[in-house]
Amino acid sequence: MYHDALTECLECGLLQRNPVLPPGGAAECSRCGSLLHRDRPDSLNRTLALTIAGMVLFVVANSFPFLSFEMQGQLTQTTLLTGVIDLYKAGNWFISGVVLFTSILAPGLQLSLLLVVLIPLRSERMPSWLPRVFRFVRTLTPWGMMDVFMLGILVSVVKLSEMATIVPGTSLFAFGVLILVLAGAQAALDPDLVWSRVPPLKDVSRPIRSGDGHLTCDVCELVMHPSSAIHDGRHLRCPRCTDVLHRRKPNSLQRTWALVLAAIVFYVPANLLPIMTVTSLGRSQSDTIYSGVVFLLTHGMWPLAIVVFVASIFVPLLKLLILVTLLLSVQFRCTWSPRDRTRLYRLTEAIGRWSMVDVYVVTILVALVRLGNLASVQAEVGAIFFCAVVIVTMVAAMSFDPRLIWDVLEREHVRAPDGSGSLTPGPGGQSV
Ligand SMILES: [Zn+2]
Ligand SMILES: [Zn+2]
Repeated sequence: MYHDALTECLECGLLQRNPVLPPGGAAECSRCGSLLHRDRPDSLNRTLALTIAGMVLFVVANSFPFLSFEMQGQLTQTTLLTGVIDLYKAGNWFISGVVLFTSILAPGLQLSLLLVVLIPLRSERMPSWLPRVFRFVRTLTPWGMMDVFMLGILVSVVKLSEMATIVPGTSLFAFGVLILVLAGAQAALDPDLVWSRVPPLKDVSRPIRSGDGHLTCDVCELVMHPSSAIHDGRHLRCPRCTDVLHRRKPNSLQRTWALVLAAIVFYVPANLLPIMTVTSLGRSQSDTIYSGVVFLLTHGMWPLAIVVFVASIFVPLLKLLILVTLLLSVQFRCTWSPRDRTRLYRLTEAIGRWSMVDVYVVTILVALVRLGNLASVQAEVGAIFFCAVVIVTMVAAMSFDPRLIWDVLEREHVRAPDGSGSLTPGPGGQSV
């Protein structure tokens, strides 16, 4: 099996030899413990099969209603797109756009573009556009949130169960299976295998020696001698995937600080202002995120109340706290347990998307409850701020470069007069 000889851990920046993995085996970074590579047996065929199944399910899930709402003989049905259109018509274009992108466009594009990449790869062809398309697929992956949307459906059904009869539609089942198939396709996909089939545009075989420095592509993870990069007049580009090369994410600290501060500002109105108004039998009641949790709790639905509390109140706050801690620790050159801080960073990346659940609940309720004075739901301004908190904190976590945590330690080590630091020395954390 082909594999790159060297790999740089994208979480701590340590350059290390890439072991040849046994079938199904995985390699972890020897310094921070993050997963470097995993061997996924028969990756191309399995991913292709799951992607085709996913495409079929995606079309079914979007073609039929997924829930019906019945109250006093009146019936409304909703498809995935109904909520997006209703929000747009009501002037909530921001939430409408975010929901359209995360629940329909991103997963749909991800599936169809993956198909476009896998079919020629399987027949050993390499069209010139393939690296760019695959790069885009990888960028889209964190933004597809169908699993979170499913949780949103569950919360909505429970919330409405006292008010009316809720009937699951055909597409709900397709939707449920699609989430499993998408997760399976993602687990089967071996990006290293795809990139290993792409021939670099320039010779990248020049060996990397300690002292020369090296460049690593954040996208295809190619490690190269600086002279192997392509200079396009403005940027250095990766000779394999053509992405712009950076030693670290550009302006990582400043950008993350700006985004974190914006998210903290949005967090206040997101929690104080109502996110929706529910009208039932002529009576209107506005709900904040907190009162939504209390509603679930007082109606005996405490497991769901805990889920919504954790996803909507606790997770955004925890994520902001972790990001501020990480930023301060890098800014003040803190050397406290870099491994734990890298773990904290990994946690913020993994949990952030689940906060979208309340945004989806609002969308589903707006789409489903449309019976005028008898029963209707409107999105309120708090939902816009809340949606902004989730998106901005996700982008903030993406713009933070965890390698900065380790850079401080390397500089401390280089400075140590007796050279007795505990970490492997060398520019850019080389240990080869
Ligand atoms: Zn590492
Ligand atoms: Zn690359």
